[in-house]
Amino acid sequence: MASDQSSPHIVLFPFMSKGHTIPILHLARLLLLRRISLTIFTTTANSPFIRQSLADTDSSLFHVVDLSFPQDVPQVPPGVESTDRLSSMSLFVPFANATKLMQPQFEQVLQSLPRVSCIISDGFLGWTLQSASRFGIPRLVFFGMNNFSSTVSRVVVRDGLLANVGSDDDPFTVPAFPWLKLTRNDFEYPFRDPKPGDPHFEFVVEQIVAMSKSQGTVVNSFYELEPGYLEYWNREFEPKVWCVGPLCLAEPPTVQSLQNQKPTWMQWLDQKSAEGRSVLYVAFGSQVGISTEQLREITIGLERSEVSFLWVVKSKEVKFLEDGYDYEERVKERGLIVKEWVNQREILDHQSVNGFMSHCGWNSVLESLCASVPILAWPMMAEQHLNARFVVEEMGMGLRVVANNGSVRGFVESEMIEKMVKELMEGEEGKKAREKVKELEKLARMAMEKGGSSWRTLDRLLDETCMQEKVI
Ligand code: UDP
Repeated sequence: MASDQSSPHIVLFPFMSKGHTIPILHLARLLLLRRISLTIFTTTANSPFIRQSLADTDSSLFHVVDLSFPQDVPQVPPGVESTDRLSSMSLFVPFANATKLMQPQFEQVLQSLPRVSCIISDGFLGWTLQSASRFGIPRLVFFGMNNFSSTVSRVVVRDGLLANVGSDDDPFTVPAFPWLKLTRNDFEYPFRDPKPGDPHFEFVVEQIVAMSKSQGTVVNSFYELEPGYLEYWNREFEPKVWCVGPLCLAEPPTVQSLQNQKPTWMQWLDQKSAEGRSVLYVAFGSQVGISTEQLREITIGLERSEVSFLWVVKSKEVKFLEDGYDYEERVKERGLIVKEWVNQREILDHQSVNGFMSHCGWNSVLESLCASVPILAWPMMAEQHLNARFVVEEMGMGLRVVANNGSVRGFVESEMIEKMVKELMEGEEGKKAREKVKELEKLARMAMEKGGSSWRTLDRLLDETCMQEKVI
């Protein structure tokens, strides 16, 4: 790694889950473009993904450090170093807490590095603030949520708005944003039911405290998308938020390989395109676990909708689809089920893909926006319910499935799936969402261009936070 004492040198430390690592690697690209040298911390099992993702960049400018992931941690299965490999997200907190055991290794390496201008570490790695302070280095938080979800959550907690709501589905208004109608079901534990002493609650509080003591927050969003929520946060809360996205636009489009070297699903999409068919892309991210009963409804809904679809499933779901159920055979003329890791951006960018049934993980939403693909929102966990509201009610780039009982959370029947898939792909509401997402895509691209809002924000952030000698 080329580095001298005067040129900026930034440490990046992504959290060990795909949805957190991918955008920070996109941020790495933006920093490398500015000739900033980087040291990227990860763990041994995550290292190949990181090295591969940056294989086309200038390797003289960055260095990847592989720390050993703690072994013999209660509840964390041996060899699992990424949340997408956990058998259940109920193991998330023990997993995330295990990362704290890497602090001595992290500090040992930190000590040996050339002068570090700042550390940008994930919001779930709050303990890195302590290391940064020990070495007198500013820490910025890399935060995976948009401003809508983080500002609304913070306001709702600050103003105690969940306390007086009758049932989980009773709508309430947020005085700071009077046009919003939310329900308790839009929020995940521990926001909706704080239990001091509970490990999940304590973990979240620790991260929030570490964040509030950090020098700033780097957010994967752009000013034009949510100016009101961003300004509200920066007026009312700390630390300051810097919007530098959508970061996925920092990655160059995939170079088209020869037809027979493309993954089979990309060949299949080409075929659908040649047949003049629109395809619905169905994927629920890298972590969500879907019950067998719910999977069954999805299969029926997709089959009855008669649209063409490409559905990426996870290993647990594969078993259901293969268990004496001739589904793949029945839908083979217009449905393809993919059982491996795909390049999601490449799929969304394909000309035949015209709709995305998505869990509304924030990266998926931004990737869809940047590909001008409207969303059928089906949130499952974390802040995805708020993201879904943002996608449908504020951005206007999607429709939404609703549970049987009219709730934003719960079991969704095949009739609802069929109806909403048809509406997204063929109906008037889908058409409106498609028009809206095209406008948003243009704004997003402008924000990321040289001189655009995100570009300038990153320059200012680097200038104010990382390029100065600071005494903390
Ligand atoms: N992803 C991918 N291929 C897959 C599954 C996921 O490229 O087969 C990527 C996806 O493009 C996105 C990230 O993994 O960048 C998932 O992040 P998101 O916030 O959408 O959801 P999460 O997995 O964190 O729930």
